Amino acid sequence: MKFIKNSKMLDFLSAGVAIDLGTSNTLVYVKGKGIIFNEPTVVAINKKTDQLVAIGKEAKLIQDRSPSHIEVVEPLVDGVISDFEVAEEFLTFLISKVRQSVKSIVSPQILVGVPSGISNVEMRAVHDVIKNAGAREVFLVEEVIASALGSKLPVSKASASMIVDFGGGTTDIAVISLNGVVSSKNVKNAGEHLNEAIASYVRYQFRIHIGKQTAERAKVSLISTLSDSSKEITACGRDAASGLPREIVITDSDIYDAVSSHISTLTDDIKSVMEETPPEVLADIMKKGIHLSGGGALIPGLADLLKKELQVPVYVVSDPLHAVIRGLGIMIENLDSYQDFLIDYEKTFIT
Ligand code: ADP
Ligand code: MG
Repeated sequence: MKFIKNSKMLDFLSAGVAIDLGTSNTLVYVKGKGIIFNEPTVVAINKKTDQLVAIGKEAKLIQDRSPSHIEVVEPLVDGVISDFEVAEEFLTFLISKVRQSVKSIVSPQILVGVPSGISNVEMRAVHDVIKNAGAREVFLVEEVIASALGSKLPVSKASASMIVDFGGGTTDIAVISLNGVVSSKNVKNAGEHLNEAIASYVRYQFRIHIGKQTAERAKVSLISTLSDSSKEITACGRDAASGLPREIVITDSDIYDAVSSHISTLTDDIKSVMEETPPEVLADIMKKGIHLSGGGALIPGLADLLKKELQVPVYVVSDPLHAVIRGLGIMIENLDSYQDFLIDYEKTFIT
């Protein structure tokens, strides 16, 4: 038990909590209870009073339509904390929600997932923000390992698995074997970048500014790598020249044009991780395939496109938006058995 230094009694009384702190969505799992929170990582703050106005779904609802004194903040950007104060408020809210749900007077022990390959400073920020928000102890694990575990892949065996977790802020591409990451790449090419690409495509093609929410709605309704669908939506934006509202029709082929370069960059990045993988390990992947998790895994046709481009079977894991929290939940239920998976942050932070 090299990570647990405090008294056993407090460990016993302290609730075990797992948090998937994603750029787009945060999920909280409480040991013995299951998932108690699953909402966007968004906070709305009244700038005049510095008070929290809304969190999660409610805050997302007022994004793009809030009055000037209300600021809607996404405290994570590209997988890492970018606004420490707001991140701490968000986590303080989550911890108070946990304490209400377990009625515990002792602060919880928290296991949190982090993207592969983030810097020590970024890792420390996650640790410190959660500690300051009221955790008794914080344990870190790579999200791809949690995703693999939550997708029932054999993470502890010598036979390797490849996971691509296509989230909102980052896509983590990793080969896992014997409880560790053999090779990996963390790329800032994910759902939020697709939204930005869609907004700038619409600005260029239609001379119209659309908000984040509209870009996201257009993406989720129309995105596909298949060529046989023909769908469209009506969206409202602000005319770039007149400044007045204007309606446009966005089709699935607009969305395809807007995001296709991002999808081919992602394909190249997966290829580059495969190229860095030792041949014996690659043989396992050729046999067992690549497993897609995260919200991006829901893009229709993506698995087939990757299969064709990479010449390897590609599967979407079951319920891909929950893969990481399922894995974190399995770990927090029995943390002693998963010590090998935890990031040895004492060693990491000193270097
Ligand atoms: P994170 O862990 O970074 O918060 P998630 O794994 O929760 O990210 O995935 C969120 C991303 O997935 C968002 O960018 C969202 O727009 C995208 N997403 C969710 N559902 C779909 C869908 N059906 N098609 C395409 N993208 C989707
Ligand atoms: Mg994620």
